[in-house]
Amino acid sequence: MSELTVAIAKGRILDSFRILWEGSIGHWPIPNTSRQLWFPPTEQSPGMLIARARDIATLVALGVADVGVVGLDVLREYPTPDVLEVADLAISQCRVVIAGTHTDWPQGPVRIATKYPRIAGSFLNQHQIAGELVSLSGSLELAPVLGLASYIIDIVDTGRTLQEHDLFEVSTIMASSARLIANPAHFYTKPEVQEFRDRMVCIRKGEPYANC
Ligand code: AMP
Repeated sequence: MSELTVAIAKGRILDSFRILWEGSIGHWPIPNTSRQLWFPPTEQSPGMLIARARDIATLVALGVADVGVVGLDVLREYPTPDVLEVADLAISQCRVVIAGTHTDWPQGPVRIATKYPRIAGSFLNQHQIAGELVSLSGSLELAPVLGLASYIIDIVDTGRTLQEHDLFEVSTIMASSARLIANPAHFYTKPEVQEFRDRMVCIRKGEPYANC
């Protein structure tokens, strides 16, 4: 284990990855209340690096971490060519959707608030919607309430947050879940990187590693 470093996105992915980890590796080295961002490798556990979601692919591409765990939504919004997507971990599942104050498809020039300008931009192009994007980094649901935009493009899980703000889904743009990514050189030269991927895939399928 000591040869491996795993970079994990903070937030929901970290919480759900913990469950996968405890089923496959066992010992989870991060105390609940810890604010520490780097956990050196031990006999029982790889090194763990906790970082912002959009930085995970950069850390893996540069080889600071061998593998990373990050949402597909983030990988598509901030493409980093120098990493391999080696497994769909099927955790942290969500959808990127366009939502508005009603379910009608946008008509005419509209303003759309989003924290995904790249994904939103290609959706508008693809559907030839004359939209003006407003980039926000959070609390997107407030944009229609404040009259800032009539639609938002954001991630949705249960849909409760949309509901609480009287917003309705118009269309799903993409499905997302946490992906395991790897540094290509490390993936092909360090056996422990592929072994880690295999373990994660087994546990995701609900199979004990020894049976794979
Ligand atoms: P929900 O009310 O369950 O639809 O959750 C929506 C809120 O949770 C949104 O504000 C999202 O930003 C956030 N969210 C939902 N799923 C995820 C995810 N997989 N990763 C990160 N944030 C998420």
